[in-house]
Amino acid sequence: INILTDEYNRHKKEELSLEKREARYKSLGDVATTLSTTLSIDEVEKHILNHALRIVGKAEAILLFLVDTDRQELKLVASKISRDFDHVKAKKGDLLDEWVFRERQCLLVDDIKKDFRFSEDKMKGYPRSFRSLASAPLVEAKKVLGILRLEHSRPYNYTSEDLRFLDVLCDLGAASLVNAKLYQETLDLAITDGLTGLKLRRYFLDRLNEELSRSLREGLNCSFLMIDIDNFKDYNDRYGHTAGDMVLKALADVLRKKAPSLASIGRYGGEEFCICLPDTSKEKAKRIAGDIKRSISEEVIELRRVNTQITVSMGLATFPDDAKVADELIQSSDQRLYKAKRAGKNRVIWK
Ligand code: GH3
Ligand code: MG
Ligand code: MG
Repeated sequence: INILTDEYNRHKKEELSLEKREARYKSLGDVATTLSTTLSIDEVEKHILNHALRIVGKAEAILLFLVDTDRQELKLVASKISRDFDHVKAKKGDLLDEWVFRERQCLLVDDIKKDFRFSEDKMKGYPRSFRSLASAPLVEAKKVLGILRLEHSRPYNYTSEDLRFLDVLCDLGAASLVNAKLYQETLDLAITDGLTGLKLRRYFLDRLNEELSRSLREGLNCSFLMIDIDNFKDYNDRYGHTAGDMVLKALADVLRKKAPSLASIGRYGGEEFCICLPDTSKEKAKRIAGDIKRSISEEVIELRRVNTQITVSMGLATFPDDAKVADELIQSSDQRLYKAKRAGKNRVIWK
């Protein structure tokens, strides 16, 4: 009898008024427009959640998982929770999400307490603090990119029509996620040097300006290193331009390995590199620069038969003592680099 009443209630719910259905279809059109013009991945994620809440609603928890392709697992990227659902803290999917992922299908659970697919013993170790659930996969080119999941503590909360809307929304969401990812990749290509994988000057200067604004706001130091290879013309003349390129690559690798994790590294010009060191005093930057300089001079670059080595000279300047704006900071470090060259190369000058 209980089951029959539940079934009856559900059918009644499915007879949504025609107007409400029309309104839903209409908002799907808006969704398509917003999503197709959004190029940031974060924004797309937020849109998917908000549209699902607007169109389907009825959720005490709404969760968006994306597949982490490296680790092949689900990762919670966005959520809105109005009640305490302890399982959300896990930030990974549970058995139900795995089901949606594996089957590449929508899932409707009317009442978790009566669903034999996800019974208590099968869900061992997973909290079942919700009663009903509607979930849909974000599928693009037959691959599941993520999962959208709505939950409620009330049983029989979602209709199969809710699920159809979620499904369409997730299709639109998946397409714009792919779009946003492609856009991001193109952008990354445009600001990255193909030879060394380091950021190019233009982008680097933008980042430096941002970093200095932040340093000013928070009353922090910010150090800047300008680095130039010593006698690189000779190296090219002696071993050839291709060998020279290998040196630039090797040097970039050393910089990546030796610079602190918060530093940003750029290829400033042909054989000139720069490093921005946020929240770094001059004293600390001197130690970092010395360490990098030594590592470079110790690095053996193997050509076909000969082992070669290079040295670099560096100019160091620190915000706010040496300069108040980015241009000045660069100029100051550049002048010190020039001093380092005149003083005999293979050294760091900081004043
Ligand atoms: P100094 O010690 O005074 O810096 O002497 P230098 O010979 O390094 O002089 P400078 O910095 O003026 O010379 C830059 C040279 O770097 C010129 C050019 O042959 C070489 N170079 C610049 N960009 C590249 C590049 O992308 N690949 C290669 N192989 N060489 C480059
Ligand atoms: Mg130079
Ligand atoms: Mg040089």
